[in-house]
Amino acid sequence: MTTIANVKANKIIGVLNLQGAVTEHLNMLASIDFVSPIAVKKNEQLRQLDGLIIPGGESTAISRLIRQNDLFEPIQAFAKQGKGIFGTCAGLVLCGTETSHNEVEQLGLIDILVERNGFGRQINSFETLLDIAPIGQQIPAVFIRAPYIAKAGKQVKQLTSVDNHCVMAEQDNILVCSFHPELTTDNRIMRYFVEKC
Ligand code: GLN
Repeated sequence: MTTIANVKANKIIGVLNLQGAVTEHLNMLASIDFVSPIAVKKNEQLRQLDGLIIPGGESTAISRLIRQNDLFEPIQAFAKQGKGIFGTCAGLVLCGTETSHNEVEQLGLIDILVERNGFGRQINSFETLLDIAPIGQQIPAVFIRAPYIAKAGKQVKQLTSVDNHCVMAEQDNILVCSFHPELTTDNRIMRYFVEKC
């Protein structure tokens, strides 16, 4: 007999669909059997979500579009309710509280100072394998003009680093990483996020 307890609840996870790597996130979410992924453009859609991904792309463009689409305060309210938010690459820049380049209006959801394009000048793009203690080992990660976390508040858990620069962190319901987990076929990071939601 099937009981409620052994049926895994379906989770509705949105991907902010303004600019950047949206389809890749939707595809990776679709590879997890108890997830319904949806592309999100309007603040009315936030109500039905268990979690939201802010994808990589261009943080200046995404921040402008968040304002134009009246999503700035609604996303902050969504985070305040304790719903999960996962910011990847440009999404990490947007979730932070401070950045070395002030042309990006940040949502201030996680207490981090972001070095935008931190890896960008020397190496524009690279792939590496990361050990991330709560998730697993040898997880592939793609870095594209990637930022890093230059400073983090005490409440922030730093999860992994590259060349001594923190590239993934979490603070309660907010998860951020400097790289693109959705451009690989390994969905362990995505599963970790969905389970937090
Ligand atoms: N450097 C870009 C920015 O800060 C982020 C790059 C990316 O998301 N791949 O907007």
